[in-house]
Amino acid sequence: MSVIVKNLTYIYDEGMPFASKAIDDISFEIKDNDFVGLIGHTGSGKSTLIQHLNGLLKPSSGEIIVNGFNITDKDLNLTEIRKRVGIVFQYPEYQLFEETVEKDIAFGPGNLGLDEEEISKRVRKSMEAVGLDYETYKSPFDLSGGQKRRVAIAGVIAMNPEVLILDEPTAGLDPGGRDEIFNLIKKLHRDNNITIILSSHSMDDMAKLAQTIIVMNHGKIEFMGTPREVFTSHADKLREIGLDVPQVLELATKLRNKGFDIRPDVLTVEEIKDEILKVMRGRKKC
Ligand code: ADP
Ligand code: MG
Repeated sequence: MSVIVKNLTYIYDEGMPFASKAIDDISFEIKDNDFVGLIGHTGSGKSTLIQHLNGLLKPSSGEIIVNGFNITDKDLNLTEIRKRVGIVFQYPEYQLFEETVEKDIAFGPGNLGLDEEEISKRVRKSMEAVGLDYETYKSPFDLSGGQKRRVAIAGVIAMNPEVLILDEPTAGLDPGGRDEIFNLIKKLHRDNNITIILSSHSMDDMAKLAQTIIVMNHGKIEFMGTPREVFTSHADKLREIGLDVPQVLELATKLRNKGFDIRPDVLTVEEIKDEILKVMRGRKKC
């Protein structure tokens, strides 16, 4: 499902003395089945933008077109859009409230008016998709942080969204938990033909996972393109606005500064490994 944002501006507390512009006239298009990494420092407007994409926030001005429907149109029934655009909010484990994992995941599909059999099928399927064992887990509160987050993600997947949006889904997790969640999202994207929009601070993971990167800065889009375009062409500007660049790229820059003939646009560990091996084997001049 495609998402088109046209001249979106959002002002919190508009008309009040403390009014602040969180999104400043941004336009972009996300193609069906894309995997978008939304990056930007804290306060750059990522969460505000995300909340517009299923109509939770109404633009101060501008339009959002999801799958051809203008969701900013007052007459549009948002229920249809919310079925199709699922959002996993930051720290979603705080929103778990049912006494069993199954009930918690069933809450969303239950609201769609599905019958019991369909709900239970969806609960099992989404637990399987996030790697939770249906028989083992009972209360969501007995689970680890990473597992709770999987329950929260399963609850959104159980709605069968066509666009899945995750707001910093690995915030606060250790590196192991972070890898698990990213692998799970990668698999969901691969197996289900869905559009993913994910905000994250981890440039290394975004370089590996995303097909398109959107860089936000002070409510505007600073860059948008493939990870290679964004990270390798704009590394200096990214550092200037306080963002990291992928570690592989940092290493490549350091090696090049020391006179090693390493390709300047490497992004993955595999790519830099090949370049270093070429230098070591003497095929490239040092
Ligand atoms: P990010 O998710 O990138 O950290 P946010 O969208 O949360 O950015 O915030 C963008 C800007 O909007 C920030 O300046 C923030 O302080 C402000 N903001 C966010 N939420 C609110 C709110 N509920 N009321 C007023 N200002 C807000
Ligand atoms: Mg945020």
